[in-house]
Amino acid sequence: MSDRESMPYDVVIVGGGPAGLAAAIRLKQLAQNAETELSCCILEKGSEVGAHILSGAVMDPRALDELLPDWRETGCPMARTPVVENHHWVLTKKGKFELPHLIFPKFMSNKATYTGSLGSLCRWLAERAEALGVEIFPGFAAAEVLYNDDGSVKGVGTGEMGVARDGSRKADYQPGLELHAKYTFFAEGVRGHLTKQLKVRYDLDKHVEPQIYGLGVKELWEIDPGKHRAGRVIHSQGWPLNGEAEGGGFIYHQADNQVAIGFVTWLGYKNPYLSPFEEMQRWKQHPAIRPMLEGGRRLSYGARAINDGGFQSVPKLHFPGGALIGCSAGFVNVPRIKGSHTAMKSGMMAAEAAFAAVQAGRVGDDLVAYGDAYQASWVRDELFKVRNIVPLVKKFGDFAGSILSGVALWCEHLGLKWPFTMKHQPDHASLWRKDMVNPIVYPKPDGVISFDRLSSVFVSNTNHEEDQPVHLQLADPERPIEYNLPLYAEPAQRYCPAGVYEVVEAGEGYRFQINAQNCVHCKTCDIKDPSQNINWVVPEGGGGPNYPNM
Ligand SMILES: Cc1cc2nc3c(=O)[nH]c(=O)nc-3n(C[C@H](O)[C@H](O)[C@H](O)COP(=O)(O)OP(=O)(O)OC[C@H]3O[C@@H](n4cnc5c(N)ncnc54)[C@H](O)[C@@H]3O)c2cc1C
Ligand code: SF4
Repeated sequence: MSDRESMPYDVVIVGGGPAGLAAAIRLKQLAQNAETELSCCILEKGSEVGAHILSGAVMDPRALDELLPDWRETGCPMARTPVVENHHWVLTKKGKFELPHLIFPKFMSNKATYTGSLGSLCRWLAERAEALGVEIFPGFAAAEVLYNDDGSVKGVGTGEMGVARDGSRKADYQPGLELHAKYTFFAEGVRGHLTKQLKVRYDLDKHVEPQIYGLGVKELWEIDPGKHRAGRVIHSQGWPLNGEAEGGGFIYHQADNQVAIGFVTWLGYKNPYLSPFEEMQRWKQHPAIRPMLEGGRRLSYGARAINDGGFQSVPKLHFPGGALIGCSAGFVNVPRIKGSHTAMKSGMMAAEAAFAAVQAGRVGDDLVAYGDAYQASWVRDELFKVRNIVPLVKKFGDFAGSILSGVALWCEHLGLKWPFTMKHQPDHASLWRKDMVNPIVYPKPDGVISFDRLSSVFVSNTNHEEDQPVHLQLADPERPIEYNLPLYAEPAQRYCPAGVYEVVEAGEGYRFQINAQNCVHCKTCDIKDPSQNINWVVPEGGGGPNYPNM
């Protein structure tokens, strides 16, 4: 029996992103329509809703239209910038060519989409949710899953505050809280820390392919108004990855002369010398991109992993007393680089299942109706159509893989379904030994268009209380120096976009240093470490990036 204070709810939601917020709004709408009461709260580890949200974003409004049909007329920031131009560039080292729209089937189009900050959209959704009576607790990280004696999920426990690095209690110590619920939704986004535990406990991944990921490194720039066109959307493939890895860039002209630019590197890359951060920095130097940024100013920086597994990696979505929604499950349509609409829709479907269950007096059982709703939904159809694109590009490379992907997309469009679904290999298993590859030498940052990691982390406004237990836990503290360094030149030094991991000289040898306060919560280390030795756990609530509008 715990002596922590506990609060009972009908539904507790972990994570105030699009999935969690859409779920909460739908629950309250259903309760309102049925003229009944239903209590619901959201825990958000960021200092406010939106502080940890990083996306492109070009949003397909399909789910938002279903959830809040009046969103365009009621001050939603996403409504400010409809997409008016869409380009797809293939970059070579010095030049580019553009792929015509006609080669993409209609379901890949960005017609009738909007571009803006997903963080700002979440702040607006949070206001709508609160107006409906949802309780939102920013600065509270769900640190553990609580279970009933029958094995069902009872709720979550929030992390303790005021614990020193050595585990002792500081003067401002506060114990965690318990939030108990009839149903708990996990909406932690990509590679959720509690979601990871639930997948193991309930074997949710048993019948699906492993989840795979990309790392998106993003910057927000204010550019010369003469070079800006609100609603212009550009995607790029090709240079600078050149066969070392797969991925691509995005350039979204948003409101107020701002441009969101980002580069996603798929984390199944082989060369341990590759640095997704440096790839982004040199991508900006391309002659098709640099002139747009010249004379401009970088406003913000951040990074976040993105699910790439798609249809074949969607786990079992429910278990006794709980459900995975949004990117906790992984509903990103990778060829469209869109997951916010599917995340919202999944939250809405889970909410409908939980509302019906609560109305029927049920508690803590399996929300089978949510899984059934997904199977019958447009989310499943959308993911099914593009299921072979990522594996095709991985297997055949950017050039041949893209051509085969085009064939696959058109076949799906014409109703000629391919009779197979390709498999995935987990990202941590893809690295080659350092003696099998050539080191990659990246150009030095010029401080104008390209930057180093530390000045980048500075503009992410990342902040963690320094005297707290390190939230990047090593299962074996010797592994980085004894195994990763000789075999893979310790890749954490390069894949971490925030400079958290360093190998420093110590006497005759080396020491692995973790600068945990720099962490931007992208989750890449939890994904890519070759022996899965790093476990990302939530730090004290409120710590992490403070993105204004990413
Ligand atoms: C670089 C990049 C570009 C993208 N571009 C696009 C795009 O253009 N269009 C598009 O539609 N999609 C895009 N996506 C995908 C899209 O951002 C995601 O699919 C979407 O954000 C998923 O929503 P979510 O609510 O599931 O998770 P998230 O948006 O990740 O939200 C999860 C929230 O939960 C909180 N949280 C996590 N764990 C805990 C915990 N234990 N306790 C408390 N709080 C917690 C987090 O702080 C966060 O606020 C992009 C993603 C990336 C990385
Ligand atoms: S420590 Fe891990 S989660 Fe934090 S920024 Fe680095 S790679 Fe991302």
